[in-house]
Amino acid sequence: MRTARLSGWGALRCDAMDTGRLEVPVRVRSRLDLICVPKGVDDVVDAHRWTSARAEWERSGWLVDGAPTAELVDGGGASMRLDVPGARVVYANQLGGFRVWCPACGEGMARPFAKAMEGARTGGPLRAQCAACGVESPFEALKVRPPIRVGRSALVFEDVNGSTLTDAGSSAVEAVLGAFDVVLRRVS
Ligand SMILES: [Zn+2]
Repeated sequence: MRTARLSGWGALRCDAMDTGRLEVPVRVRSRLDLICVPKGVDDVVDAHRWTSARAEWERSGWLVDGAPTAELVDGGGASMRLDVPGARVVYANQLGGFRVWCPACGEGMARPFAKAMEGARTGGPLRAQCAACGVESPFEALKVRPPIRVGRSALVFEDVNGSTLTDAGSSAVEAVLGAFDVVLRRVS
């Protein structure tokens, strides 16, 4: 395929041998969310603590009309919210998904993980058994790329321009959540 850049149309793609076929590439606007998940799987973030933290962040200029500034997250972001889904959920990348492998034999474990997660949602064990070698592993021992976290609540920075919290942002989030991990979620 050759790429022809035509003013007003963006890049049209046509076959190197002209077969008359043109493709208009779809511009996929994806969004990146930075999700802060408490290290304690069953920790639920206190809504009142978040409400008062948000007011304080607005006063100190870290949030402007609800949008996190570059003081909190690299490049700033569009909005942020507290997520409390009411059950354990997997906080994970969406566009392109994520992959799970057995730490013992290296086989894919997407299916056993998904099945185990169904039970874990409502309090079942956070463990999955490899169909290939039979080894049962706690979720945290599974090899997962990109990283995921299971939790019952999270503080979500939506549509961020960078992929890391600033030091100040990290401390501010820790004051609300306690110890936490960051999951990046690309959404189409
Ligand atoms: Zn295995």
